[in-house]
Amino acid sequence: MHLSVDDARRRALDLGLAARVGTESVELDRLGGRILAEDIVVPDDLPPFANSAMDGYAVRGAELPTSGEGRFRLAGTVLAGASAAPAFGDGECVRITTGAPLPPGADTVVIKENVTIDGDSIVIRSSERAGANVRPAGEDYHAGDVAFKKGTALSPAQVAVLAAAGRTGAIVAQRPRVALFVTGDELVPSGEPLGFGQIHDSNRYSLGGLLRGLGIEAHPVMHLRDDPVRLRAAFRNAADHCDLLLSSGGVSAGEADLLPGIVADLGTIHFWKVRMRPGMPLLCGQIGGALVFGLPGNPVSTIATFLVLVRPVLLAMQRATNAAGRVWRARLAAPVLKKHDRCEFLRARIDMREDATLWATPMQKQGSGMLRGVVDADALIMIPENAHELAQGSVVDLLPLPGLF
Ligand code: AMP
Ligand code: MG
Repeated sequence: MHLSVDDARRRALDLGLAARVGTESVELDRLGGRILAEDIVVPDDLPPFANSAMDGYAVRGAELPTSGEGRFRLAGTVLAGASAAPAFGDGECVRITTGAPLPPGADTVVIKENVTIDGDSIVIRSSERAGANVRPAGEDYHAGDVAFKKGTALSPAQVAVLAAAGRTGAIVAQRPRVALFVTGDELVPSGEPLGFGQIHDSNRYSLGGLLRGLGIEAHPVMHLRDDPVRLRAAFRNAADHCDLLLSSGGVSAGEADLLPGIVADLGTIHFWKVRMRPGMPLLCGQIGGALVFGLPGNPVSTIATFLVLVRPVLLAMQRATNAAGRVWRARLAAPVLKKHDRCEFLRARIDMREDATLWATPMQKQGSGMLRGVVDADALIMIPENAHELAQGSVVDLLPLPGLF
């Protein structure tokens, strides 16, 4: 019995968690997109001191005029980066710039546009509010706050918080080491002329790009002919120094589909064949410590199985908390008829309507060999296995293709 997509995903995620990769210390410059392997505790208040949000004049809020005007003698200036703030007394103010520390005793900044300068004094009107234009220490993060938890994929803003907190790097999951094999006697590297019955290998680039989207540069990347001796040697070698072997082609039940036999021989098949379309022949196995994902060679099947199963596994191996992915949904802009009992991943365009709802329009070209359907699509929409007729307006789950959000 072939696995359902849900079961296959669960099994794959468990395998990914069991095949966790190690951790490493990475400096700030290279942290974007990495998965935290430690909780990040902010050691000190951010900002570290109360400072001015505007260019203006620091005063004591209690001294602001409640009616008419008030006059404040200018006691000095404090700029951002000043090593000390000038002392100031009753009835005095200090000129201050954005980001400069508030002088002790000051709790209010009146913006410079709102004051009149009169010799060595300034005149402030009664409309000013005590406490205004000040960023208190710790208003962004307090000392001791857990800013980000283990398992977070770091965004540029999060890396900026690490820098602001004085960190030079963080402990993150290592990137899984992935080998990429494209298999098939008919494949020729793009750029070379085609002989009879040959096609250019395109999966190398779709899979390579999808991996790169996760920050993973596959190594080695190899074309393998449908030759059991070569395939076997390549898989065995790669399993010694990779965390995951990814291949396309050779997993159906044709006579040149050698992969299932080789994986069973060198290791274990965890599952083979998933009730999905495209991508049914997908194989998941293990050789030594390396997980193996044999994706079907049809270019659309390759992309769909990567997004549905391989991507979550690569994230789970890094202990990413969102490995299963955020659920996105849209409404069908056209009815869908499905005659089979597999879960279908249709290529669809996604549009946001005026009322902020997302609508999915399935593409015309849905053949698993037709890249055009993916090229024109924004997402794969999931038609569950037990659904056969979905009316226009039905809600479906979607798997964004890179670039949708
Ligand atoms: P297979 O899964 O090996 O049975 O291949 C299924 C289909 O995908 C066949 O039409 C293959 O020619 C095609 N195919 C396999 N590998 C690739 C590749 N790397 N690039 C483009 N098409 C491929
Ligand atoms: Mg083949």
